[in-house]
Amino acid sequence: MRVLIVEDEALIAQSIQAALQDAGFVPEVVADGEAAWFQGGTEDYSAAVLDIGLPKLDGLSVLRNWRQEKVNMPVILLTAKGSWSERVEGIDAGADDYLVKPFHMEELIARLRALMRRSGAERHSQMQAKGLILDTRQMKVSVNGAAIKVTPLEFRLLSFLLHNRGRVVSQEELASNIYYQDQEPDSNAIEVLVGRLRRKLKADIIETRRGFGYLIDDDPTGAA
Ligand code: CA
Repeated sequence: MRVLIVEDEALIAQSIQAALQDAGFVPEVVADGEAAWFQGGTEDYSAAVLDIGLPKLDGLSVLRNWRQEKVNMPVILLTAKGSWSERVEGIDAGADDYLVKPFHMEELIARLRALMRRSGAERHSQMQAKGLILDTRQMKVSVNGAAIKVTPLEFRLLSFLLHNRGRVVSQEELASNIYYQDQEPDSNAIEVLVGRLRRKLKADIIETRRGFGYLIDDDPTGAA
């Protein structure tokens, strides 16, 4: 999924770009406000990370222009430390979230994912954790680059756990989110399903929290 990074400080831009790539996004960097306004208005992005202090056109103006032109992607503003008035202005201008510099890349990734989940963007592309990649556009699953054949039910289970990665999901919650309304699963259906998936994935991806449910641990860096 494509993310626009607008940042004029090359080192910061590079580290954001690297972190986003590691997290499975497809980042593009522009370094001034005019380029950002144009690029964000003419191409399709799932989200943007927008610095406020920019050459040619400041970030708040870029954001106002986008919103005026109905460019509705989620936007995270990067603001200077202590500048609460900038943040207020940013929210007024249509920002969805902001981060105060300096920030941890892990926090940026987590906030981006949260915004995308809210906007529904993530449901239309790839999700990944621990070498597992789920492509919801092509309905494909792979583990460490190797394609895995799964049934639609298995796919929905993986998709739901990935959407909720980092959180333990109970068997009941899983069942109500992966079976259709008119399907009545057996009491041990989820256990059987998870067991089958584990054999197919041949990797320790789905964890059991005995008595609570299942978990795919969050993995913002993409490392196994
Ligand atoms: Ca700047």
